[in-house]
Amino acid sequence: MTSQALQRAESLIATIPDFPEPGILFRDISPLLANADALRASVDALIEPFAGQFDVVAGIEARGFLLAGAVAIAAGVGMAPIRKAGKLPRPAASVDYALEYGRASIEMSDDLTPGTRVLLVDDILATGGTLRAGQQLLAELDLKLAGTAVLMELVELDGQAACGPVHSVFQV
Ligand code: AMP
Repeated sequence: MTSQALQRAESLIATIPDFPEPGILFRDISPLLANADALRASVDALIEPFAGQFDVVAGIEARGFLLAGAVAIAAGVGMAPIRKAGKLPRPAASVDYALEYGRASIEMSDDLTPGTRVLLVDDILATGGTLRAGQQLLAELDLKLAGTAVLMELVELDGQAACGPVHSVFQV
């Protein structure tokens, strides 16, 4: 896939001011997902540094799921969901972490054999708290972090300091 397809993909990420709260610039990947070439180019670019290095892709609820399913098919691997607390029928591990306001928990089942190489994906890297919690969750289950990848990194928030190195396809 050409860099032209990636440029087009980046142009399809919409920036919505004051959502979900005043002062937040929300990056909406829905238009990118809706475009076949943009989706393919983005998925290929997400995987590219980790080709052959992971057995499973884990996506963080909710928009990480949208990418992880596509990555799994493109890379020929399985997919594991990391869910918000209270959604899984048999959670095996849970990590509590700080949000800008308040706290959240994420959970995972123990469907993967310890030592499985996992690529962790999400849509956006902001402060890095969510991906760091995801990395901690994988560690609690004795899974091996093969890499961490996002579609877009919000550079000024320095999420890399919290959970780097993170491979980001686009940076703003
Ligand atoms: P953080 O834990 O601060 O890195 O936030 C990352 C998580 O929050 C990701 O799961 C994103 O889906 C979501 N997120 C944070 N900031 C934004 C933003 N500006 N636009 C869209 N999603 C965001």
